[in-house]
Amino acid sequence: MTNPSGRRRVVRVGTAAVAMVLVAEAAVWLLRPRERPIEPAPVSEGQYFTQAQIDRGRTYGDGQLWLFLAVLGAQGAVLVTLALGRPAAVRRGLERLGARPVLGAAAAGAGLSVALGVAALPASIAAHQRAVDYGISTQSFGSWLADVGKSAAIGAALSAAGGALLIALVRRFSRRWWLPGTVAVGAIAVVFVWLAPVVLAPLFNKFTPLPAGSKARAQVLRLARHAGVDVGQVYRVNASRRVRSLNAYVDGIGSTRRVVLYDNLLRRTNRPELRSIVAHELGHVKHDDVPRGLAFLILVTPLGLLFTSELGRALVWRTGVNPRGPAALPAYMLGLAIAALVLGVPGNQLSRHVEASADTFALRLTHDPKALIQVQRRLALSSVANPDPPGIVTALIGTHPSTIDRIGAAVAYERETATAPSH
Ligand SMILES: [Zn+2]
Repeated sequence: MTNPSGRRRVVRVGTAAVAMVLVAEAAVWLLRPRERPIEPAPVSEGQYFTQAQIDRGRTYGDGQLWLFLAVLGAQGAVLVTLALGRPAAVRRGLERLGARPVLGAAAAGAGLSVALGVAALPASIAAHQRAVDYGISTQSFGSWLADVGKSAAIGAALSAAGGALLIALVRRFSRRWWLPGTVAVGAIAVVFVWLAPVVLAPLFNKFTPLPAGSKARAQVLRLARHAGVDVGQVYRVNASRRVRSLNAYVDGIGSTRRVVLYDNLLRRTNRPELRSIVAHELGHVKHDDVPRGLAFLILVTPLGLLFTSELGRALVWRTGVNPRGPAALPAYMLGLAIAALVLGVPGNQLSRHVEASADTFALRLTHDPKALIQVQRRLALSSVANPDPPGIVTALIGTHPSTIDRIGAAVAYERETATAPSH
């Protein structure tokens, strides 16, 4: 790209990329929970974990990180190759789909999704095998592969719809497609978050409401009342079918809002531990963290799509395929993938704030830092986590603060309340 027009396009892609990152950082700042998290006290992992446990977490985490990078590399190679108009046979096939552009884009979208899934498969298999070897996953290879197949089918269907929508918008609105595209992404995301817990999640797991008379349910509701939180529904999920790890989460909005507890958790934690975990989840409900995540998505989408549009147009200009047909889809998909990868970093930054703030909420609600420390130890051991990963790893891909920082916050709370005058 040495001629003026090519240079101008590169500048436009670069400008869109910088603007995308700046807006995302502004969104993180704007959406940070108002309840400031407790500053973690510096603690050392050796106080809470044996050297063997630390080494095990480190070895497992490092290996999974490399496999994650291998998936990224394989998928990136596929996308870049296709976006550059190669191999010629695929390019010709995509151009032929241009006879019915929107329908063709649906087929191209589904095909791309399957190709990316296949590219990821070898590293994914290795990652699953390691999870079994380390005693995290309890799933047989066949059952795991069935899950992968199901996810691939759902991914292909969504990708087909996405591809058709994108090409339809490009045809109707030309280079301004990212504006209506933003509206579409926002609307789809809201419906998705609303329906996912009742439509998608049950395809993989069984969800049962905690029985009316159960101790766990009474405990959740008592704590919720105490915190002044309307929890929606409380479910148990049969996670033990797949994993040994302990976990809980909040999802859904409006009528589908719910707290979900892993059956592992209900079976293997004592009362103070369960209280601590439930209090953390109530913090997410109280702080409106699911709508907060949606708000972040809606704020970063316009520039994410503008970047996608600029990169897609620059690539299409280079390869000479029809920018309004299915052959342009790989170029746009590459743009979307890069945007998603880049925006994931500020997204995780916001997520770590949100998680730290839910921990603080739990500490103030339960006044039980010992239980939180115990829970963090057990969460880390059950998922063979590295308690204190390198700062750069947490900064890029950490959705939660590191175990050691979460324990540090509990220790800080413990000291704070021990020295505060009682009243
Ligand atoms: Zn959380």
